[in-house]
Amino acid sequence: MYRMLVDGALIDSEARRPVINPVDETVITQVPDASAEIVDRAVDAAAKAFVAWGSASWSERREVVLAIASAIEAHKDELARLLVKETGRPMAVAQFEVGLATQYLTFYAAQKLEAEVLVDDASRRVELHRRPLGVVAAIVPWNAPLYLAANKIGPALIAGNTIVVKPAPTTPLSTLRLGELISGVVPKGVVNIVAGGNEVGAHLASHPGIAKVAFTGSTQTGRAIMAAAAPTLKRLTLELGGNDPAIVLPDVDPKAVAPALFALSFFNSGQVCAVIKRLYVHASIYDAMCEEIAALARAATVGDGMDPSVQFGPVQNRAQYEKVLRFLEDARANGRIIAGGRLRGGPGYFIPLTVVRDVAEGTLIVDDEPFGPILPIIRYSDIDDVIERANRSPYGLGASVWSSDPDKAAQIARRLECGTVWINQHCALDPLVPFPAHKQSGVGVESGREGLLAYTALQVINVNKAAGQ
Ligand code: NAD
Repeated sequence: MYRMLVDGALIDSEARRPVINPVDETVITQVPDASAEIVDRAVDAAAKAFVAWGSASWSERREVVLAIASAIEAHKDELARLLVKETGRPMAVAQFEVGLATQYLTFYAAQKLEAEVLVDDASRRVELHRRPLGVVAAIVPWNAPLYLAANKIGPALIAGNTIVVKPAPTTPLSTLRLGELISGVVPKGVVNIVAGGNEVGAHLASHPGIAKVAFTGSTQTGRAIMAAAAPTLKRLTLELGGNDPAIVLPDVDPKAVAPALFALSFFNSGQVCAVIKRLYVHASIYDAMCEEIAALARAATVGDGMDPSVQFGPVQNRAQYEKVLRFLEDARANGRIIAGGRLRGGPGYFIPLTVVRDVAEGTLIVDDEPFGPILPIIRYSDIDDVIERANRSPYGLGASVWSSDPDKAAQIARRLECGTVWINQHCALDPLVPFPAHKQSGVGVESGREGLLAYTALQVINVNKAAGQ
């Protein structure tokens, strides 16, 4: 039985909601569905806990963040199995995610926030401090439930905030289990976990007791959260959608590079904010690259992640599945499908890995993110033109340039309008490295030192040494 963590206790709710297995659309289990009153209790508990936690020493906070990482590590197989169950993804992908969760928590546990002395002379001493904000609401999507929750819990806690975490309605299992695992090691009220639908997120986003919302999810929901947070001017970190371009220069060998481009487009069946979503390939190698990538897609096995021979799982939920089907229709109408494209029938949200060529901007499949396993490959012949086309997007999360000349690629990288440009790689995430978002891909930054600072408020202490002497 799954329970929520509120004020140090594992609690149930009157209402419950089903969790659907994306592989066969059966009900896996029922989980609590938090009422507004339960959410209020969680926020109140976090506010009460903040009094002590906000002034706890760095080493006390560090111990707790490390204890959360250890609890995950000690139950990594169980958590990976839960992730497979609720997302349908292969075990290797689930294990990778559990590893990321401990890695990010461990990184944040080591981060110290020390006061900086700006001036210290005969007349004055000016210090810059980093204060916690208060209660943080962490609103998490379904594509990487545990990692994205950990990457909010870690920085929030080490900076002295307390937190209320809300997993996505379709993937609450691993997060609720995390709550049970840490209920004995985290001081009462410091971490609270409430499950429920979108209305729970909306309630948190407008709650006067919340100081900051850390959100990962769609751009549309990001806008709603920004509006809901406006009356109380909450701090925000919004990591939203992306439509990452990859630009492949004519100097690469298609055969050598295709496996990496394929893997970095279809990882987690394309359900990652920063995988390759528009692949721009130079005309001189276009046909060869299309054929190499299509061959890899045709050979891939898509199915139930519980089956060890499966490499790619289903789309995680019905709403997303229906959205991806619209992109598939668009790909059919506006391009030439050279791998996948045909649904296999039967239950489950399965879409074969689909590659579409001879497609251009101005279509849904190129202009927006499917967040599913469909890759458009787009031809270009002029580098200035392709940079302009890559930048012609409301999104600005990531991009990559592929070339045998990394210096030439780096010059192109500087002209791309996005938070991260990878060279000869894509979506290489690292706790040490900030993950910023430009344009409508988000507000602020997660990860790295900069990601931690987003969980703090600057405070200046300015002493007039001459006064009162
Ligand atoms: P979503 O926006 O529908 O939901 C995300 C979370 O927000 C869920 O917990 C949901 O219950 C909650 N929510 C929904 N409506 C809300 C509201 N009005 N107020 C507050 N909370 C609300 O997103 P999704 O469909 O779960 O995730 C897919 C999207 O997330 C994709 O667009 C993808 O690109 C994006 N994403 C971005 C990143 C990133 O780091 N930039 C990472 C993963 C996913």
